[in-house]
Amino acid sequence: NTFAEIDLGEALNLNIRRCKYVKPTPVQRHTIPISLAGRDLMACAQTGSGKTAAFCFPIISGIMRGQPAQRPRGYRAVYPLALILSPTRELSMQIHEEARKFSYQTQVRVVVAYGGAPINQQLRDLERGVDILVATPGRLVDLLERARVSLQMIRYLALDEADRMLDMGFEPQIRKIVEQMDMPPPGVRQTMLFSATFPKEIQRLASDFLSNYIFLAV
Ligand code: AMP
Repeated sequence: NTFAEIDLGEALNLNIRRCKYVKPTPVQRHTIPISLAGRDLMACAQTGSGKTAAFCFPIISGIMRGQPAQRPRGYRAVYPLALILSPTRELSMQIHEEARKFSYQTQVRVVVAYGGAPINQQLRDLERGVDILVATPGRLVDLLERARVSLQMIRYLALDEADRMLDMGFEPQIRKIVEQMDMPPPGVRQTMLFSATFPKEIQRLASDFLSNYIFLAV
């Protein structure tokens, strides 16, 4: 069981080899085929399990294979196709760094936006174009309120360390963010929720945000 056997597309497979990944981790082995098949997913994943690649690979592969998106040219807003929400600045930076390696020499552009840092550089990064936005919930709400980001074209949503985001009190922000995606046309969004624990609040998020999803406890 190797990455070469999973049909992720040539460019992504090349980048996976560059990263020296040969065998998928258990989380990757179980989740990637489900995500590639287009199903929503809630998965149990600890830090170090390889969950970053588990949600990045299907997103990058899907964007590269998908129809070129007809994105509106907003006055100031940019229209990412994928959103990865993570609880902290550090985790967002790590995800951004990995996602950039996985999308090296492809057309897929990855931008990160987190709180606790000046927003201006992030705005400039966004203006250069973004396919995958990695963000912390608070900073993203700020960008939405400034109308600098629109979520109307989001096809892929990944919630990383969902339990930690709720522990940090981000549930209102997360709900506000996801509400902005629930615009026509419906049913085009694919959602992946990763969490280490599954208290009632997480299960409620899953039933509100995911449709007909598969729950994987690896
Ligand atoms: P994560 O759980 O996503 O933070 O990943 C933990 C570490 O494992 C990171 O340094 C990854 O680069 C690495 N990693 C993830 N998947 C694989 C894989 N299939 N083979 C080797 N290393 C991996």
